[in-house]
Amino acid sequence: MNLHEYQGKELLSSFGVRIQRGIVAQNAEEAVAAAKKLTEDTGTGWHVIKAQVHAGGRGKGGGVKLAKNLDQVKEIAGQIIGMDLVTPQTSAEGKRVHQVLVAEDVYYPGDNEPEEYYMSVLLNRGTGRNMIMYSTEGGMDIETVAEETPHLIFTEEIDPSTGILPFQARRIAFNLGLSGMAFKEMTKFVTNLYKAYVESDSSLFEINPVLKTSDDKIMAVDAKVTLDANALYRHKDLAALRDLREESAIEVEAGELGLNYVDLDGNVGCMVNGAGLAMATMDLIKQAGGEPANFLDVGGTADAARVEAAFRIILKDSGVKAILINIFGGIVRCDRVAQGVVDAYKNMGDAINVPIIVRLQGTNADIAKDLIDNSGLDVMSATEFQEAADKVQAVLA
Ligand code: GDP
Ligand code: MN
Repeated sequence: MNLHEYQGKELLSSFGVRIQRGIVAQNAEEAVAAAKKLTEDTGTGWHVIKAQVHAGGRGKGGGVKLAKNLDQVKEIAGQIIGMDLVTPQTSAEGKRVHQVLVAEDVYYPGDNEPEEYYMSVLLNRGTGRNMIMYSTEGGMDIETVAEETPHLIFTEEIDPSTGILPFQARRIAFNLGLSGMAFKEMTKFVTNLYKAYVESDSSLFEINPVLKTSDDKIMAVDAKVTLDANALYRHKDLAALRDLREESAIEVEAGELGLNYVDLDGNVGCMVNGAGLAMATMDLIKQAGGEPANFLDVGGTADAARVEAAFRIILKDSGVKAILINIFGGIVRCDRVAQGVVDAYKNMGDAINVPIIVRLQGTNADIAKDLIDNSGLDVMSATEFQEAADKVQAVLA
């Protein structure tokens, strides 16, 4: 589950990580009030107005702007709220902005130039350890840095049983070229950042940029936080931060029905039991010249009610031109699934307007095939994987 920047920053701050301070606002008037409050609290005269959507690259898309007085705060906030923000990480239609973060300007002039770094905390599945990835090249696309100047990206592996050790925090500050107060600030910053990551059961923190201000403070200017959804049951406060407006409406609805559904761009809807088989089915569709329209794991009990719910979800996607049902009957018997498909189809009547290919394999597969073939419905049966793929190809042609 992803958090908004302002929520991520609040989380970090609660663990003692220094952040660029800000107040979230739902409209231009609230933005002005927020700016006034920030000026009282921090003394800042300038503010940055930042679109709060679940996508990076907002700066490039015009979703992060500097306001030098309250009139500009009002104007920019009014502009950004309600816009469909297009960034390198959104679709071409963009994402609707419902709120902005009004933040203190932290790039103020001083003895030194402000400097931007990159830092993320994530799990290295290969070594089974957490790692902190960081770079002197902050503020830009880390993918570009990785491609063009990979030697400027450092990693520090953390043993989860000891947590981050003081020498590791110092090594990070040293590799970033820091000294004096900024060095001390950085060791505190990474130590608290790591603690926040572990204690919130996050799967990703990406802070880009981490800023060294002109007076040598180290702070998070941006925060991308991804929480591990499987651990949310023990973080009720964090679970409550979910913003359904940022998620695909179909995915939210499927989740409520207990279906594991991921919306994709293709033309062949998939209904499969088991995540592994669902992945293999998507590969098969691609090989047959189609593109999967979704990932859908209906789970173990593919009865009529579940199959019908799955049909309805799949058909909400107008790009679907055919549906491939691929079920392995291990514990669930194929004839029960076949009956479920037939019942659901009859129940839905005209709502099903695309060809359906059903491949059932496993317990009672032959009985299931007879059931489908004799149903009188526009459903094609297959027993082999390849046969199913060929039929998909035929209906798409
Ligand atoms: P992103 O584009 O979605 O990654 O959003 P960021 O929060 O990283 O902001 C984008 C850019 O806005 C940063 O890299 C900074 O260059 C700039 N920015 C952020 N905060 C401030 C600020 O307080 N003052 C100024 N002048 N620029 C800022
Ligand atoms: Mn950023």
